[in-house]
Amino acid sequence: MSVNQQAHTGPPYGQPQPGYQGYQQPAYRGQPGVPQSQYGAYNGPMPGYQQPAPPQGYFPSLGFPSKGSPVSLNSDTSLPPNSIGSLRTPPASGAPPPASGASVPSGHVAYSQLGHGDVQNGIPTSAAPVQRPPASQPFLPGSAHTPVSQTSTFQQYGPPPASVQQLINHVAGMTVGSTTVSAPPPAGLGYGAPTSVPPASGSFSATGSGLYTPYTASQGPPPSSVSEGLPLAQPPFPGQLISTQRLPTQVPGFAPPPSTGIGPSYPPTAGVPRPPTMTGPPLPGQTLAGPPTSQPNHVSSPPPPPSTMSGPHHGPPISGLHGPPPPTHPPQPGYQMQQNGSFGQVRGPQPNYGGAYPGAPNYGSQPGPPPPPKRLDPDSIPSPIQVIEDDRTNRGSEPFVTGVRGQVPPLVTTNFLVKDQGNASPRYIRCTSYNIPCTSDMAKQSQVPLAAVIKPLATLPPEENLPYLVDHGESGPVRCNRCKAYMCPFMQFIEGGRRFQCCFCSCVTEVPPHYFQHLDHTGKRVDFYDRPELSLGSYEFLATVDYCKNNKFPSPPAFIFMIDVSYNAVKSGLVRLICEELKSLLDYLPREGNMEESAIRVGFVTYNKVLHFYNVKSSLAQPQMMVVSDVADMFVPLLDGFLVNVNESRTVIVSLLDQIPEMFADTRETETVFAPVIQAGLEALKAAECAGKLFIFHTSLPIAEAPGKLKNRDDRKLVNTDKEKTLFQPQTSFYNNLAKDCVAQGCCVDLFLFPNQYLDVATLGVVTYQTGGSIYKYAYFQLETDQDRFLNDLRRDVQKEVGFDAVMRVRTSTGIRATDFFGAFYMSNTTDVEMAGLDCDKTITVEFKHDDKLSEDSGALLQCALLYTSCAGQRRLRIHNLSLNCCTQLADLYRNCETDTLINYLAKYAYRGVLSSPVKAVRDALISQCAQILACYRKNCASPSSAGQLILPECMKLLPVYLNCVLKSDVLQPGPEVTTDDRAYIRQLVTSMDVAETNVFFYPRLLPLTKADVDSDSLPAAIRNSEERLSKGDIYLLENGLNIFVWVGVNVQQGLLQNLFGVSSFSHISNTLTTLPVLENPFSKKVRSIVDMLQMQRSRYMKLIIVKQEDKLEMLFRHFLVEDKSLSGGASYVDFLCHMHKEIRQLLS
Ligand SMILES: [Zn+2]
Repeated sequence: MSVNQQAHTGPPYGQPQPGYQGYQQPAYRGQPGVPQSQYGAYNGPMPGYQQPAPPQGYFPSLGFPSKGSPVSLNSDTSLPPNSIGSLRTPPASGAPPPASGASVPSGHVAYSQLGHGDVQNGIPTSAAPVQRPPASQPFLPGSAHTPVSQTSTFQQYGPPPASVQQLINHVAGMTVGSTTVSAPPPAGLGYGAPTSVPPASGSFSATGSGLYTPYTASQGPPPSSVSEGLPLAQPPFPGQLISTQRLPTQVPGFAPPPSTGIGPSYPPTAGVPRPPTMTGPPLPGQTLAGPPTSQPNHVSSPPPPPSTMSGPHHGPPISGLHGPPPPTHPPQPGYQMQQNGSFGQVRGPQPNYGGAYPGAPNYGSQPGPPPPPKRLDPDSIPSPIQVIEDDRTNRGSEPFVTGVRGQVPPLVTTNFLVKDQGNASPRYIRCTSYNIPCTSDMAKQSQVPLAAVIKPLATLPPEENLPYLVDHGESGPVRCNRCKAYMCPFMQFIEGGRRFQCCFCSCVTEVPPHYFQHLDHTGKRVDFYDRPELSLGSYEFLATVDYCKNNKFPSPPAFIFMIDVSYNAVKSGLVRLICEELKSLLDYLPREGNMEESAIRVGFVTYNKVLHFYNVKSSLAQPQMMVVSDVADMFVPLLDGFLVNVNESRTVIVSLLDQIPEMFADTRETETVFAPVIQAGLEALKAAECAGKLFIFHTSLPIAEAPGKLKNRDDRKLVNTDKEKTLFQPQTSFYNNLAKDCVAQGCCVDLFLFPNQYLDVATLGVVTYQTGGSIYKYAYFQLETDQDRFLNDLRRDVQKEVGFDAVMRVRTSTGIRATDFFGAFYMSNTTDVEMAGLDCDKTITVEFKHDDKLSEDSGALLQCALLYTSCAGQRRLRIHNLSLNCCTQLADLYRNCETDTLINYLAKYAYRGVLSSPVKAVRDALISQCAQILACYRKNCASPSSAGQLILPECMKLLPVYLNCVLKSDVLQPGPEVTTDDRAYIRQLVTSMDVAETNVFFYPRLLPLTKADVDSDSLPAAIRNSEERLSKGDIYLLENGLNIFVWVGVNVQQGLLQNLFGVSSFSHISNTLTTLPVLENPFSKKVRSIVDMLQMQRSRYMKLIIVKQEDKLEMLFRHFLVEDKSLSGGASYVDFLCHMHKEIRQLLS
């Protein structure tokens, strides 16, 4: 029984992924199957590091090869148009008589049906309140409407002068030795320099441990806000030891206008006393070198006059924050450029930098002059852009090697390769902290949630190996006798290799004879490197029949396409579009490995108030329609001929898809059913005894008389009331029960919605959500503007890697256990996450709690085991292992956190909370928890300092800005333009997002297109999401994973407009464009290539919206400038930071 033995029915590992990578790149994973002998190579040297090719995922199709042979349409088709009323029309030939519900094979109790309780995911049955204590001082969103609280810096700051850089170097030199550099061990290979192409995934996470710079609290600064670490690109703060020598340094151009800032003019927010930090005199470093601009706040309600926009850049916009760090001082790569979470005052180099936690030098001993009144300078507060850039610089050039326990990976915004040496890749698992408190008391004290964001079937870049498939034959995988954990690198072999001790529960288990192997002198099995399950963090086992429902190997899954053919769908051209697309798309169903054709069978249903099933059996000359109008008791009127092999039935299928648009062209039917559609698909899969996926294309609220009929209960007046939660809850429990049945069968439901009005996403989405499906929404669908987006989404959705009938369990070593789960799934007990389908984009966030003490020696282990059926019907187990450190010092927790993952967890927690608690309570709880997290750090990890200082942990210095983005998001604080359906939709999307997706969703990426280098492949450096960063002479792109905005300033040069839009003036730009015109010039090509690149990086095709400055669409665009105050009342970053500071101070006092 060798690892190297290929799976008896499966393809070799290392094989190409099924063709979901795109039509044009069938060979994306197309290296031929790695022969067995190559397995050993996984441990060998990595191939030279190369920049991953841009097409990380989906390649938008430019058209399918037309494989379907043209079929002439029979005008006298046997398909009666819209033959409503032909109840249970018997099949014309040879098909079995209409089946009744009883004909469905009974007695097939799925294992996942057993013990189905009423524990439900997503829609809690109990209205459990949010458990977190509400903030003692509610942060009233309304208060943010105050017109002047937003700082208005209109200058664009130039790069830091050379003197600052010298200072930086000086500081770095002084602090060598105090910087913890624990970067992954170099692989010993020369890796090419990374290009500056942005990472495929778009988010950032906390800086890695390797970058962590210990610091202590600064002391003695004026009673204004401070953090540890100094923004080095800024003038020094006189109170700092190190900075004294730099006191005279004035950074040219660094002269924020004080007038409208948070200084004295900061209005009291709803009775909340202003933090004292706001009242201080200006900092010494902030001499007013420039005339204060008195423009009103840019988010004040009426669109500001042009003059309020930030003017042309006085130099490269914040370019000083983007420059690569000096190549010197390798021990602190890139540290020099970091803003170490300090804000509120312009300071010199890290005051705390030189000291370890307890040993802060006498920084505070040199009190500076009394600080003059000040305002918070946006450039001095932690910048997401800077953190992302620093991480790219520092960690993007070497692979992340997973051999070391508790290593914090690079940020998700950093492009890096992963080398699996015993822990799962961060592409599969990311944690909020890689160092877990040893005791629950510590964990509670810190309030840092312990959570893992798991993406079990994540897509890997081509340079990385897919998990190897291990086949132990009939005996199946080796497991612990007691806790059933799977063999993994952390198991300890003892007694000469005859037994092993479980790393999770300590139980000792006999090694099965076929698995016995001798140990070497270090106690390691001599076949260690030959077995993925002993040496790798991620791998797969071929499951035996014991892991299958009913002890029977599964059949290949089926896809059923279910098309709404009511009036709206037909009239908009949607039906024709779908049918045309399917003709070619069916050739791109997921395949396993080197299989020539997909094993997936397909079926077709159309519906309005009744359902039409189609017999597309290959022996038929023409498809046959069977109408079921008794939707109250759904059944499938045919078995044979409904689910077919595409190639065998191609002619009939093409004929059907040609005919459907014609058949319903004149329909007058406007009403639809919905639940019976799902039931029909479910029954069809039951009858075929297989798992599968329903692709439902639906347009309206299902008001026709049928089970699951809905009423329009939208009521925006409920927003901001205690009943607001009802908007997120389904209006009937019918769909929860239906979802349960679907999960039991492995029936996953993907939903494409095309509403022209409210259709109750909160209810329609329940089945999708609980079956692990995906939901897409195209409001006011118009063929011309939306078809590209829809078709790209559909293609990717149909092609992407997906597993069926999945069950996931997360095991942990003694001391912690998984207690809570977030994502699109169903749970029938407290441990098993069930998903009818699980695709490569779906993420499950798992929270852990202590149930015992942990030890620093043994650390903490996670093992995620996913049992699923592959697209070829093979039953497999995918195992991901991760080892974490444990700590007795809170400081270790805080220096190994990952803020992006933390935000992913917090957002999901909050988005679930709105189902049961008032939205305001959810927001307050979030603020309170984060204040406690930061206060705990301040109290326990930072050295004593003035209470006026805000001190943020280095790894969490972006927590306030990101948290504010979550609080301002449409679910938690909707603007007037956000519909109830939008909110329900977003809520559902976010729940399955990975860390990269939540990152860019909450803090969008903003790129100055006019700064792009048309001769390079790189993207222009991103800038912060604030209007004051925009210049009216430039063009910007903003993306958040769902939308792309192209914002055009009023003063953009005519030549640029001509090149990009093909128009001669600003006023001629059409804001109804949804694509950029294809023009043959370098700028146009460059911008379009950037858009294409971004589209490929995201799991959904983003809608492109052109926004002209001062146009009405600009309101929409501003919603995404998340550092600014929002029209819906969301606080600006600066204001929110002040608020957080106040919360923290209250906790500390
Ligand atoms: Zn065990």
